[in-house]
Amino acid sequence: MKKIGILTSGGDAPGMNAAIRAVTRTAISKGLEVVGVRRGYAGLIAGELFEMNARSVSNILQDGGTMLYSARSKEFCTEEGMQKAIKTCRDNGIEGLVVIGGDGSFRGAADLSARGIPCIALPGTIDNDITSTDYTIGFDTCVNCVTEMVDRIRDTMRSHDRCSVVEVMGRHAGYVALHAGIATGATYIMVPEVDSSVQDAIKKIESGRALGKSSFIIIVAEGVGHAEKLSEQIQEATGIVTRATILGHVQRGGSPTSRDRILASTMGSYAVDLLVEGKSNRVVGIHKEKIVDHDIQEALAMKKEFPMDLYKICNDISI
Ligand code: ATP
Repeated sequence: MKKIGILTSGGDAPGMNAAIRAVTRTAISKGLEVVGVRRGYAGLIAGELFEMNARSVSNILQDGGTMLYSARSKEFCTEEGMQKAIKTCRDNGIEGLVVIGGDGSFRGAADLSARGIPCIALPGTIDNDITSTDYTIGFDTCVNCVTEMVDRIRDTMRSHDRCSVVEVMGRHAGYVALHAGIATGATYIMVPEVDSSVQDAIKKIESGRALGKSSFIIIVAEGVGHAEKLSEQIQEATGIVTRATILGHVQRGGSPTSRDRILASTMGSYAVDLLVEGKSNRVVGIHKEKIVDHDIQEALAMKKEFPMDLYKICNDISI
């Protein structure tokens, strides 16, 4: 293998730049040429390529977002689009590709691998909703961001004996809500994986109030309910002034935590090792603090168990 490409796809996540840097520099140190692909699979179809050297990735380790830009491409999901992407690789001598993104991006990487372009996928998404890894690149930064925001909200809620409903990212996954909920001592968390209702939130608030609690934080994953509606219902049922905050895209940005930088750096380096060993159609993960890799289809078929023990702890200690 003489030349590899690298792209970021789907939603951006802090730490993607650290992964790009690690892939680029590991490849260069192994004597490979590296091509950056801008705007994910859309850029691969359009041939948005540039040669990368060790200096191309200087001073990006600490930056959120992705220097390669990201995109979603419907065209790539068609056979015609896929063939255009393959032609770009062939025309430019790209013999392997590192794809950083979520499970949709992994499906694309599997399709390319099946058509003769060896791909290694890295899990880059703030949601942590990838089954084949304990942690995804960007999750830790996102949880830390939410924690800081909720701490700030708590200061003002506490000063006025109020309740706050904070809506966080997570259409289908409640990991951000769960981890931030524990880290901020949320009164109640609502996640897609567990049956949770506004009635239960109200009960938890009432039982806390009976024990002398006077301000409350409810964290809701966006896939379960909307902060504004929930706030109205809680205020009406309890009489406690309740405010809604939707954190939105603030959760996606920001400088990656050291944990995300280390995870991205080790995964990025490992991805190049796999390509050099002649591997294809693999997704990198971390399990029990060890870097691992799986066949992409097998990884996509795995079922992630929601950590109910953590969910229980969160509820038990927020009385
Ligand atoms: P996030 O977790 O942020 O949503 P993602 O990688 O899952 O990231 P998607 O929009 O699902 O984001 O996928 C990114 C891109 O991957 C799509 O725009 C499309 O080009 C490609 N892709 C998604 N699903 C498939 C598929 N089944 N086959 C081929 N390519 C796919």
